[in-house]
Amino acid sequence: MRYSQLFLPTQRETPADAEVVSHQLMIRAGMIRKLTSGIYTYLPLGLRVIQKIETIIREEMNRAGAQEVLMPSVQPAELWQETGRWNVYGKELLRFKDRHGRDYCLGPTHEEVITDLVRKEVRSYRDLPLNLYQIQNKFRDEIRPRFGLMRGREFIMKDAYSFDIDEEHAEKSYWKMYDAYVRIFERCGLKFKAVEADSGAIGGTFSHEFMVLADTGEDAIVTCTSCDYAANLEKAEINPDYARDRYGKPLGSKGLPAEKRGTPNIKTVEEVTRFLRVRPDRLVKTLIFETGKEPVAVLVRGDHEVNPIKLKNLLGVETVALADETLVRELTGAPPGFTGPLGLKIRILADNDIRPMEDMVVGANEEDAHLVHVYRGRDFDVSGFADLRFITPSDRCPRCGKDILFIRGIEVGHVFKLGEKYSQAMSATYLDDQGKERLIVMGCYGIGVGRTAAAAIEQNHDQDGIIFPWSIAPFQVTVLMLQPEDSEVASQAEKIYNGLKEANIETLLDDRDERPGVKFKDADLIGIPVRITVGERGLKSGQVEIRLRRTGETDEVRLENVIEKVRGFFREPVS
Ligand code: ATP
Ligand code: MG
Repeated sequence: MRYSQLFLPTQRETPADAEVVSHQLMIRAGMIRKLTSGIYTYLPLGLRVIQKIETIIREEMNRAGAQEVLMPSVQPAELWQETGRWNVYGKELLRFKDRHGRDYCLGPTHEEVITDLVRKEVRSYRDLPLNLYQIQNKFRDEIRPRFGLMRGREFIMKDAYSFDIDEEHAEKSYWKMYDAYVRIFERCGLKFKAVEADSGAIGGTFSHEFMVLADTGEDAIVTCTSCDYAANLEKAEINPDYARDRYGKPLGSKGLPAEKRGTPNIKTVEEVTRFLRVRPDRLVKTLIFETGKEPVAVLVRGDHEVNPIKLKNLLGVETVALADETLVRELTGAPPGFTGPLGLKIRILADNDIRPMEDMVVGANEEDAHLVHVYRGRDFDVSGFADLRFITPSDRCPRCGKDILFIRGIEVGHVFKLGEKYSQAMSATYLDDQGKERLIVMGCYGIGVGRTAAAAIEQNHDQDGIIFPWSIAPFQVTVLMLQPEDSEVASQAEKIYNGLKEANIETLLDDRDERPGVKFKDADLIGIPVRITVGERGLKSGQVEIRLRRTGETDEVRLENVIEKVRGFFREPVS
């Protein structure tokens, strides 16, 4: 490809709305342009990178036995009503009507469509297993689109769906996809970690997120400093056996009777602890949640936060949400901030760390009042204990009890065992070898293609620009024709360019009528792994300069050896 003919508008200025480096560099390197919030056009350079990633994904999906299909983006509401998601998906789902007034949405994901296809076509166990995937634009009306391709509203996703005869086979399919993902992200040149994620009603460890490690990542990951435990923050379990604070035996009798203290307009943990001069781990927060069924109260220590996902899974409900002020007043007789477990007429669940607590401070269910010297068992009871809070950096690894570390990551892929959720809701069945009708067991597997490209740049750049990993670089080599007006420079650069093309090496020839400084700057910015500089000075001694973008290593190479030298990089790819 000749740069003079390529639509590659680079720019020196950093765009004002680009907060993370990958977004800045994708704009500056002429890879993408914004149409409107969270919606981008891929320019030729960006599209080449996207297509490289897609090729890797296709090769690995096909190798794992998956087959490519392409489903429509427009999906009828009826399918979403069948699974109930028309009501629960919320505002991320872009809904619209056709000219007949029928409801549709633009697909944010395709479980409904694929399950509909499979229930119509799959009859018997002989038709299974089946794994179908597509690479397609998804639409999610994200509340905060940002970071360029990282969190778009329209974005390219690879989504795959597996169909099996039973749990055991579904698990095999799951691990096959897990392995394929490891290969895909390795081939993309990424440093990543597969972490346990929430698998909702399924339970167990059948949901993993593939996280590219980066400080700018939106996701918090909990890793063990000793064993290989890694989970996302929502999922990370807290093992009571490894509790940091061991409370001693109660001191003598049950101490002092509960006593009310006036706490005028003092509500937050910080305010209450300062006012009553107690440590936050002496305070118990009582939070009321709406669950779609009965409201429940959850007790956690003052220095802990309720993890709503753990609560949702424990209760087996679709959603949980903090109760609004009206409900809190109705149930406690006081505004939020003064809720406590004494006299509360709803079910009370407590986090495991409440169990050893004594002599606690709680809300008095009365405006501007708290109770001190409160004891569980004496003053109130709970209906059960569970792990209901977020892990904190001072907790220990739930597997081995060693210290943990919080790191940040970008979720590029997600593998998930769905079980019978969709096949049950949509009656996707098959006949087993006894002729008995059974539900198909499913899994789903997503990769954000644009996000993967962005994550790769996040991990591979320097102050001058992008440093593409070989496998996803838009070109492998760029040849800089430093003085195009010099006929010797022009003809030698052309010769090298043609030689590389013949060797099937993707090459960008910078034949623009630009100053050398501009060409060097652009070459660094767009991050092509190998740069060959053909200039008057070098040619005097029959040489060109070959430089590796990543290491900055340079070599003066004789003209006749250039192609062989570059080929050598491919025999032993440099990462
Ligand atoms: P997130 O928590 O980041 O919103 P998600 O859990 O909603 O992600 P999935 O539904 O599992 O994501 O989608 C599969 C993959 O699609 C994700 O792993 C991610 O790489 C990508 N993806 C999801 N939302 C977006 C988005 N708004 N923009 C770009 N890629 C996305
Ligand atoms: Mg999302």
